[in-house]
Amino acid sequence: MPTPIKIASRLDPIKPSITLAVTAKAAKLKADGIDIISFGAGEPDFDTPEHIKAAARAALDKPGVGKYTDVAGLLALRKAIAAELSSVHKVALEPDQILVSAGAKHSLFNLFMALLDPGDEVLIPAPYWVSYPDMVMLAGGRPVILETKAEDDFAVTAAQVGAACSPRTRAIVLNNPSNPTGAVYTKAQIEALAKICVEKDLLIISDDIYRQLVYGDAEYFSIAAVHPEAGKRTILVDGVSKTYAMTGWRIGYTAGPLPLIKAMTKIQGQSTTNASHISQVATIAALTGPQDCVATMRKSFDERRLEMLKLLRAIPGVTCREPKGAFYAFPDVSAYIGKKSPEGSVLDDDVQLCDWLVEVGKVAVVPGSGFGAPGYVRLSYATSMANIQEGVGRLGRALALLS
Ligand code: PMP
Ligand code: GLU
Repeated sequence: MPTPIKIASRLDPIKPSITLAVTAKAAKLKADGIDIISFGAGEPDFDTPEHIKAAARAALDKPGVGKYTDVAGLLALRKAIAAELSSVHKVALEPDQILVSAGAKHSLFNLFMALLDPGDEVLIPAPYWVSYPDMVMLAGGRPVILETKAEDDFAVTAAQVGAACSPRTRAIVLNNPSNPTGAVYTKAQIEALAKICVEKDLLIISDDIYRQLVYGDAEYFSIAAVHPEAGKRTILVDGVSKTYAMTGWRIGYTAGPLPLIKAMTKIQGQSTTNASHISQVATIAALTGPQDCVATMRKSFDERRLEMLKLLRAIPGVTCREPKGAFYAFPDVSAYIGKKSPEGSVLDDDVQLCDWLVEVGKVAVVPGSGFGAPGYVRLSYATSMANIQEGVGRLGRALALLS
């Protein structure tokens, strides 16, 4: 018998990441020789662009890349990030207002750890990216979920934000474009949100990891740029994972008020030190090199988006808003919840439905309840057109078996 180990009670409310769990399950089934099509991972299928890899290869032949960097990241990288974010968000950022971390997920974790006292509240519009509430709880804070409606394109309103504020509310998380819905805020919506955040003295955590992935007539508007006071209270979270197909390099960054960045750097200095040196070198190439790779990938995502949307909308009983950004479709499959499978089990919720879909339908999708939206499922279209056609076909054929 192994020695029983008591796990810290701070983990009691924490769930494993469902996006990673679905992806791992599909990968395991594939490794076992089962033909699964996975729409699980929010990860570009493209290889990292050649000029970025070349910069990393060249760095290997120079001395120094095997060494630590500044905890906050290489100065040359922080300069490049400060220049890029200053121009996008119309704020004047200095390199010492930038902290480079091991992915934007790590940036957000450091941020909540630096910001929250026990019981401090963070407003999180739902559907939300799975990790926000759990990270807030790990840091001792209290997530306050703001429900949005599909018919409003999942946009949280200024009135909702105002009504949800209490004396303990510290911040709001805005993820624009949104994972999982693909919604992109209009300029008017962003302006109204900026105004209420200023009025209510809220910090704005702007997770812009998908800001370069917007399609059709949608446009990304920075909340820091639309209101003179909002820029001073916005903490920008960004990274290269999605835009440059660099998920495995693990580079994300935060830009914000100096005292907060210093506090986050202190946490990082006592936990992980710097993000991988060679990945930082590659990120300099990504940010300062040619940007046509981004346009090429964006065009592919757009074509896949339209194909997936068309195929999903052709499935009886399934409705889907047009995703305008990121690389996810978020259809409502509630018409199929509570139905019976040919094997005789009743699929009581979206988690059971997704389990059945992967086992019987051989298609992996992420249950909406992980994003605070039961009755929905999330599909990533960052995969080949052939996978989209075959996989959504499988989804439709499997759903048709339910009665
Ligand atoms: N924010 C959102 C909304 C995401 O979807 C992701 C995806 N992983 C992240 C942050 C973190 O990305 P990464 O850690 O790969 O930079
Ligand atoms: N953000 C991606 C997703 O939502 C990657 C997995 C994760 O970090 O959660 O699928």
